Amino acid sequence: ALRPLIAGNWKMNLDRETAAGLARELAGAVAAAAAFEMAVCPPAPYLIPVADAIAGSPVGLGAQDCHAAANGAHTGDVAAPMLTDVGCTYVIVGHSERRADHGETDAVVRAKAEAARSVGLVPIVCVGETEAQRDAGETLDVVGRQVAGSIPDGLDGTTLVVAYEPVWAIGTGRTPTVDDVAAVHAHIRAALARKSADAAGIRILYGGSVKPSNASELLAVANVDGALVGGASLKAADFLAIARAV
Ligand code: 13P
Repeated sequence: ALRPLIAGNWKMNLDRETAAGLARELAGAVAAAAAFEMAVCPPAPYLIPVADAIAGSPVGLGAQDCHAAANGAHTGDVAAPMLTDVGCTYVIVGHSERRADHGETDAVVRAKAEAARSVGLVPIVCVGETEAQRDAGETLDVVGRQVAGSIPDGLDGTTLVVAYEPVWAIGTGRTPTVDDVAAVHAHIRAALARKSADAAGIRILYGGSVKPSNASELLAVANVDGALVGGASLKAADFLAIARAV
């Protein structure tokens, strides 16, 4: 089995003090030999204090987005080389909140993932259906199309992570059944095989209302290689409990 990645997406939450404090608490609690790998993805202004707080620990740093260009006239955006410069290993791209709030298409997400790769960052590419798409029976088609369109060709388990996040499960307390999660993750694995010779080595995270009480059943599903956690990653005890459910 792949070493699961437990990634915390802090979204647009916390302040500098609480972000650094949370990072320090996680850094002090996670052993290098843990069965899981942990990463935290703070808001851009807090990347540097969080990097300082986790320095020397096994906790990794990720950003929540990057621009497709390496620099230039893109007011308000952050470039992938800036993220490596401040110590990031990962960058989330194509989160459904960015696809919805900023109109990011599969092509834009793919360009961002390529920009990340070009500087050695590992993109965590997010896919997932809306509630209307699930109700219409389109889940596998939608997710398959997002994988085909959003993920660069030729990546492998060391250069790419995929996250399946059903939009209707994000922040709602609702989750798909374990059978539904298994079906989508198997479909993603098959879609990855058309892009990568190492599809079996690529971690596919589940995200959407993961919490301590459901983490062990979700993480035990076939082809679930970790979790992308929102709300429950903002409290050290909850996030550690999820990681220890691996
Ligand atoms: P919640 O865990 O708050 O549902 O958020 C999931 C998510 O969007 C992580 O990227």
